[in-house]
Amino acid sequence: MIVPSDWLPQAPLDRLHLDWLTAASIELAILRLDQIDPLISGNKWFKLTEHLKAADQAGAKGIISLGGAHSNHLHALAAAGKRFGFTTVGLLRGHPQQTPTVNDLQAFGMHLHWLGFAGYRARHEAGFWEPWQAQYPDLLAVPEGGGGLPGAQGCLPLKALACRQLNDLGWNDYDGWWLACGTGTTLAGLVMAEAGEHPVYGALAVPDDHGVAQQVERILAQAGVSDSSYELFDASRGGFAKVDSLLLEFIEQTEQASGIPLEPLYTGKALLALKQQLEAGKFAPGTRLIFIHTGGLQGRRGFSSKT
Ligand SMILES: *Cc1c(COP(=O)(O)O)cnc(C)c1O
Repeated sequence: MIVPSDWLPQAPLDRLHLDWLTAASIELAILRLDQIDPLISGNKWFKLTEHLKAADQAGAKGIISLGGAHSNHLHALAAAGKRFGFTTVGLLRGHPQQTPTVNDLQAFGMHLHWLGFAGYRARHEAGFWEPWQAQYPDLLAVPEGGGGLPGAQGCLPLKALACRQLNDLGWNDYDGWWLACGTGTTLAGLVMAEAGEHPVYGALAVPDDHGVAQQVERILAQAGVSDSSYELFDASRGGFAKVDSLLLEFIEQTEQASGIPLEPLYTGKALLALKQQLEAGKFAPGTRLIFIHTGGLQGRRGFSSKT
């Protein structure tokens, strides 16, 4: 077994009190995926679980995957490999550089190969994996970010993770989910888990032309989901990883008021987009939403030194 089946990470579900939520009479709970483990963090762990099961079934000794020099996905993969003792190989975008993330990948024992930029762009081409599979015949290849249907299936347990803690908040039900989307894989998993019961609202951390809606539809079609309820909102603020002073001030204020750490690429943008939707009257007073803290805090270290 690559991952022991009794390792079931827990994520606290806490009430979040902020003045703009109170002003709109909206109740918000936050599912802290940033707290599932000291090292393995966020939605990226859930997106990996089905891939790890597939690796087990294929008799593979580990996983080979790809990402950038701040990748939350590679970080979660390398941390899991270290924890559970399986081999990990990371194919990196660009040229060798030492970011805090890359330091961790190496410390966790991940084997790294730098593909340059053109080499990385070729990742969707037919035959891309062939030389890597020849070099690492014992490893299973996982797409960038742990996406696709298996990635979404790994996020199915998020619903139960939150639901069994609703009572503790004094909630008998909730009216929907709010979360950041990069590829939309995590959102697709929640939409599958809900099967139309509660809507899932996705705050897009990437611009419109990234095809998130199409990607979500593709996963739902593959999964044969007929009952789905979700909505996407632009939260990218002009581009992936683009930050501005309004966003940074919002993050700082929110951290001070709540004690919850956020990062500017996903969770900060998603929460700011929620505030703006509330100000625009999107949700009726009394609405109860669950916001997913998707993690990503490790990537923030490199971000502050980069800007
Ligand atoms: C990757 C990531 C997301 C986006 O997840 P998708 O499944 O690609 O939509 C959101 N938040 C954080 C912190 C992430 O690292």
